[in-house]
Amino acid sequence: MFSEKDLKSLLDYSSDGRVLSVYLNTDPTVVQTEAAKIQLRNLLKTVDLPEDVQVVEQFINFEYDWTGKGLAVFSNHSADYFHTYQFGVSVPDRVFIADRPVVRPLVRLTDTFMGWGVVLVDKQGARLFSFDLGELKEMEEITGDEVKQTKRGGGNAMHGRMGGSDPSGKVENIIERNIKDVIEYATEFFKRYHIRRIMIGGTDDNIARFKDELPKAWQSLVVSEFSMSMTAGHQEVLEQATRVALAAQERISQALVNQAITLAAKGSNGVTGLIDTLNAIHEGRVKTLLVLQDFEESGFRCSGCGYLTVQELETCPFCKASFDRIDNAVELAIQETLIKNAEAKVLEENEALATAGHIAAILRY
Ligand SMILES: [Zn+2]
Repeated sequence: MFSEKDLKSLLDYSSDGRVLSVYLNTDPTVVQTEAAKIQLRNLLKTVDLPEDVQVVEQFINFEYDWTGKGLAVFSNHSADYFHTYQFGVSVPDRVFIADRPVVRPLVRLTDTFMGWGVVLVDKQGARLFSFDLGELKEMEEITGDEVKQTKRGGGNAMHGRMGGSDPSGKVENIIERNIKDVIEYATEFFKRYHIRRIMIGGTDDNIARFKDELPKAWQSLVVSEFSMSMTAGHQEVLEQATRVALAAQERISQALVNQAITLAAKGSNGVTGLIDTLNAIHEGRVKTLLVLQDFEESGFRCSGCGYLTVQELETCPFCKASFDRIDNAVELAIQETLIKNAEAKVLEENEALATAGHIAAILRY
């Protein structure tokens, strides 16, 4: 399973050779094995690294077990470097050659699909799942005391709560006790699995009850709610979780793009366009970088301090060293952002961001 540690080790990797990065969609519901192999062969046609091409094809043809929906392979044959990762979600087919592994598709993947907790809740108990890079794992179910509804016709749940059909409040007491147990179990699970965002399925009533009882710190991590039956099957929960994660990513990214553009227009803590964004990254001011998936530009990197720029300069304005020509200034900008512990969001497409120069950032100051 791919982790943030893996992403970090890819970011840390450096060598003198060229690194081939391959991303392949192997989702069996979308592409058949043979078609994926042909697609890979076509992608590799343009790659002038024969030994790396060979080890990648060797892996795909003889070692890959095709259980994942997406695959990433990194190879630098001259340095004996070869790493593969598979995911429960698909990745777009892409091939890159650079002096480091290209991580942009992974940034999008981890940002969208990592660290989710899924909660299905009813009056009696809850089902908890971790949802990480497309892998949905269910924990042991928690079931409290059965909630026996008094005779039908005596009123709906609302009446029950108000004491109409449940004068002694017995039913409500059981529900209260159950929800307390569920909350204790759920928060323990969130902690143990490093859950960073939560989606809740159930009826409106049960979701509201769960959320009300949830401690504030966890409440703020609830990103989405949806209606779902407690008896939903694994596939149904998986599909819903995938939809919710993608929609949440879209919504959050759009809000951040708007924020960056507005701040930049006010001359406040925002920048748009490559030149200004590269400068802000170098100065360590970037809080959140926003960039379109397919945006790339050539440029220059200072051999001394690593300053990235698209303007040809004699010497570096920061350290006076000379520049090397680079063909992936945007990818390097993303990596630099992550190395500096800022957040990077890769967007599939976004009109506002495209108009603003394909890249933008919200700044710390
Ligand atoms: Zn410099």
